[in-house]
Amino acid sequence: MTDLQDLYQELILDHGRRPRNFGRLENANRTAEGYNPLCGDKIRVYVKVGGDVVEDIKFEGAGCAISTASASIMTDALKGKTRAESEQLFRAFHDLVTGQQPGPDTPELGKLEVFSGVSEFPTRVKCATLSWHTLRAALNKNGEVVSTE
Ligand code: ZN
Repeated sequence: MTDLQDLYQELILDHGRRPRNFGRLENANRTAEGYNPLCGDKIRVYVKVGGDVVEDIKFEGAGCAISTASASIMTDALKGKTRAESEQLFRAFHDLVTGQQPGPDTPELGKLEVFSGVSEFPTRVKCATLSWHTLRAALNKNGEVVSTE
């Protein structure tokens, strides 16, 4: 178990230091901003939606290692997914970081599993879910500014 935790921590630190899909997405047709005042995390998510599919996704902003790593791994996970699949992953991820039992048709979380330890740190849950709330706003209410408070 300790090895697994070390590995998870390693992945979070790596994505926190060298986030993937970081920067502005020039041909985005959806965007939203998110703030987590509790920790000071700020993020802007850019999405290019084609039909029902998240064709491309990037983010920029500044935040703690957890929020940056979460956005980085989220953008990797969602590329090519449909909106419905993205929503399912969000719910599964939310259950994971809040320590709830996954529902019956929970999709595979893959690398997102590294955030399971967050459930032991309630104040960190908002850091981990900020990018997801912001993504959801971009998909459903384009141009919105969301806050975790
Ligand atoms: Zn944070």
